[in-house]
Amino acid sequence: MVIGGGYAGVAAALRIAGKAARRRVPVSVALVNPSPLFVERIRLHELAAGRAPRRLELARLLGARRVELVVGRARRIDAAARAVEVELAGEEAALAADAQGAAAADAAARTRRLDYDALVYAPGSAAAPEIVPGGGEHALSVADAASALALRDRLRAARPGGTVAVVGGGLTAIEAAAEIAEAFPALRVALVTRGRVGEGLSERGRAYVARALRELGVTTLERTRASRVDAHGLLVAPEGGEAAARGAGAVERAASPERFAADLVVLAAGFRPAALAGSSGLATVAGGRLAVDRRLRAPAHPEIWGAGDAAAALDGDGAPLRMGCATALPQAAYAADSVVAALAGDAPPPPFRFAFAVQCISLGRRRGLIQRVDPRDRPIERALTGRVGAWVKELVCRYTIAALRFEQLRPHRGGSPAQAPRPRRALDAGDGERLPSGAAT
Ligand SMILES: Cc1cc2nc3c(=O)[nH]c(=O)nc-3n(C[C@H](O)[C@H](O)[C@H](O)COP(=O)(O)OP(=O)(O)OC[C@H]3O[C@@H](n4cnc5c(N)ncnc54)[C@H](O)[C@@H]3O)c2cc1C
Repeated sequence: MVIGGGYAGVAAALRIAGKAARRRVPVSVALVNPSPLFVERIRLHELAAGRAPRRLELARLLGARRVELVVGRARRIDAAARAVEVELAGEEAALAADAQGAAAADAAARTRRLDYDALVYAPGSAAAPEIVPGGGEHALSVADAASALALRDRLRAARPGGTVAVVGGGLTAIEAAAEIAEAFPALRVALVTRGRVGEGLSERGRAYVARALRELGVTTLERTRASRVDAHGLLVAPEGGEAAARGAGAVERAASPERFAADLVVLAAGFRPAALAGSSGLATVAGGRLAVDRRLRAPAHPEIWGAGDAAAALDGDGAPLRMGCATALPQAAYAADSVVAALAGDAPPPPFRFAFAVQCISLGRRRGLIQRVDPRDRPIERALTGRVGAWVKELVCRYTIAALRFEQLRPHRGGSPAQAPRPRRALDAGDGERLPSGAAT
């Protein structure tokens, strides 16, 4: 069972199904996701800026490996019973309610309980509006598809000359500010951040980002804390000294809390991990990410693996790896290999290790920065910039989908489930619904 149909979940599900087939381990794989569509999260700032997304249907992505798609939201993991309660959505919910009669068309009818032998926990992360008080009511984000579409509609409706304030100075905030400024040149875009814009970049990388933002007309307000969002913009205050205003010059230096008027506020200062692990009683760290050991397993539940934003895989220093597609995909591959090894009765793979290589930032469609970093994500003074940077970043985005297609299409030599030997662990214990055996690859 895989919870989450993002980069980590889809990659893990396809790889488990494909590898199990090659190993002739009969396994039924199901993936639970609230939407029937795959969301390319790393392009949501593009969606907000008005670019049409590619339509990627999860059923088609997963179908090649006969992974069952359950459209719904996992509400609780009953780790003791090895089952997941899923609140069905869309057509699945309608069919379930219909099957049980109109009178039973209530929450219970829309709930499905699924047993698992192995669980990959990958429900990702979402916007974190609580980062700035008032954010939930008055700010928009690019963290999920619905928010990005809402932002797109508000940007299209904004009056010429209106101001958009993007809060945050990390990679997502930079990408969002640049994309919006390029797509909506009639709007004034400001980036408001504690510390400096692109804190994790090298001097050269930061200088390039500053230049690109200036060229796009983005004003940057650094070392500035946004303390509240309301219908009229932000309250901002200098952080540990004077705020520095640069760029198009539309921003005055910030003094002790003062108003920064904005028609739209976009919060892009961090993501919040899915809360499901914590609300299901599993151990969490780092603000709610599933705690996992060096083999990406939940400490008290070795049959649960975590991957992606929702889990806290550790780097070489013992700190949680930063959230990112770049970290999610290798974790998913590792978790999948571990699941297949466990189901086949093999020894687990050696502990998970991860080394960073680059940070990739788009700055609109014509500029990009590919920042070299050392294995621990510390920047080194080597970078690709400009159109070449934009091109490489585009290739990286395409690679994420290509990586999923690779798992989908990689040839396998497995026989049919009927020919395959029985797995070493029973697949039919428990009182929940079994996954259909026909789904085995
Ligand atoms: C605008 C933007 C730009 C980005 N750019 C980059 C970049 O350039 N490089 C990079 O490395 N990273 C980037 N990221 C971060 C990257 O998108 C995430 O780190 C990545 O999506 C994590 O993958 P994931 O599979 O863990 O989670 P997600 O992609 O978030 O997928 C999780 C899935 O689980 C589903 N889900 C949630 N709760 C439940 C539940 N209870 N039951 C069932 N399903 C559930 C969600 O709906 C979603 O479909 C960017 C993010 C954004 C928003």
